[in-house]
Amino acid sequence: MDKGAKTPFLGRMAYFCHVMSKPALTPQENNFQAIISHAKEYGFVFPSSEIYDGLSAVYDYGPYGSELKKNIRDYWWHSMTQMHENIVGIDAAIFMHPTTWKASGHVDSFSDPLIDNKDSQKRYRVDHLIEAKADSLRAAGAVAEADALIAKMEELLGSDNFEALQQLLVDQKITCTVSGTSNWTAIRQFNLMFDTQLGSVAEDANTIYLRPETAQGIFVNFLNVQKTARMKVPFGIAQTGKAFRNEIVARQFIFRMREFEQMEMQFFVRPGTQKKWYDYWKEARLLWHTELGMPASKYRFHDHVKLAHYADAALDIEFEFPFGFKELEGIHSRTDFDLTRHQEFSKKKQQYFDNDIDEATGKPYGNYIPYVIETSIGLDRMFLAVLSNAYEEEKITKEDGSTDERVVLHIPAKIAPVKLAILPLVKKDGLPEIARELMDSCKGQFKCFYEEKDAIGKRYRRQDAIGTPFCVTIDHQTKEDQTVTIRYRDAMTQERVHISKVKEIVLGAIA
Ligand code: ATP
Repeated sequence: MDKGAKTPFLGRMAYFCHVMSKPALTPQENNFQAIISHAKEYGFVFPSSEIYDGLSAVYDYGPYGSELKKNIRDYWWHSMTQMHENIVGIDAAIFMHPTTWKASGHVDSFSDPLIDNKDSQKRYRVDHLIEAKADSLRAAGAVAEADALIAKMEELLGSDNFEALQQLLVDQKITCTVSGTSNWTAIRQFNLMFDTQLGSVAEDANTIYLRPETAQGIFVNFLNVQKTARMKVPFGIAQTGKAFRNEIVARQFIFRMREFEQMEMQFFVRPGTQKKWYDYWKEARLLWHTELGMPASKYRFHDHVKLAHYADAALDIEFEFPFGFKELEGIHSRTDFDLTRHQEFSKKKQQYFDNDIDEATGKPYGNYIPYVIETSIGLDRMFLAVLSNAYEEEKITKEDGSTDERVVLHIPAKIAPVKLAILPLVKKDGLPEIARELMDSCKGQFKCFYEEKDAIGKRYRRQDAIGTPFCVTIDHQTKEDQTVTIRYRDAMTQERVHISKVKEIVLGAIA
């Protein structure tokens, strides 16, 4: 039961069971449902305002989710602003002067084509309907036909040819999944920006927008940053923060949300060099993912056929989510579109003076509006990529030959919510005191978790379920020789090490 934009409230049971109510689930769908349930049960992601039955496509992050999210954000921020000497960060406001969105083109063209089925009243994004049809063709082995359908769709979307798009739905016999009919309304555009009023007196209030992307906060600050941080082209400005889109159909858990977080970097370059930098960032961004420990086989590039109004080249970095390969990050060569438009609308020059010598003329390059390469990744989508890649229901054969099962999150140690669990074997005999001492010496440097309740096996399982890479058990032998048992999450191997080595082992893994 996907209620879409028309009915914003999604019942609690519907939230977890709407896919389950369908007859047969593929193993991937089953796995995705298990991941969603796990995320809730272990404090990663909750439906927003759940006691009121939730709000469609809005989610809250729980104790472990907020740690994981912060760690992903920090990993990105560090790679951008610390590892690149020519990239600096900003933190712009969510509200911006409304003219910003006229200049950027969002007021006129930040929209998706939607269609309603008259029988079921269900609303769809037209591109999603056609993509679903292409997926079913592909599954039936008609790969060339599926590719041709997607190419045709992109061409028609590119030229805003809604009549031909509607005909494509008819020709392809695309029907509503609820009513089974093709009794469609006409296709129309739907602007995705949320608006609200600024000011307390209705007559004087101005309509302003919740930003649909963080990028414009960077563009309008281009000269402030360039001057104050004394940046020379090429240089970048990075920002993380909330963005809001009134998505027509919100689905797939935190993949498509109405309130989400982006991590964007705009890289300002000399005109004519944009292709070189586009290629550079394409590779650099893929490397960021694989260096984190994400498998290269789950990534692929998808070049855009339909280019946005501001781009001269664009691609998606797609990730293989449990529901297939989908966009995780976008790389766009945005030309000088944004700065030129802001110059036009604000009547303030957005130029940069480049005093490097142009070899062709022997003179400085002089004044120009820089071109921009953008890298833009959804933090929540990255969270979902990490979570779905990490999740495993593992069958274990124990030493005595019996079998067992565990759910484990193989989250890269660097971004795991908790790095080290400290577990005294029993609650007495001075073991908690030793454990507390270890806790005190480690907790200033990385996130630790202390627990003395339940059997040790049970405690290990709980840490596996939240992705803690290391557990340390303090037992009676510790009192004699200051050694502890360290247990490694992925291999489940254990070894005896001196207690003074524990911090070093963890720090080595998360560096
Ligand atoms: P899509 O085609 O999936 O709607 P988009 O091409 O509109 O995405 P961009 O405008 O390029 O997305 O935004 C950059 C990134 O922000 C995306 O790659 C994605 O990771 C993230 N993002 C965009 N929309 C959403 C959303 N509704 N929920 C969560 N993340 C999003």
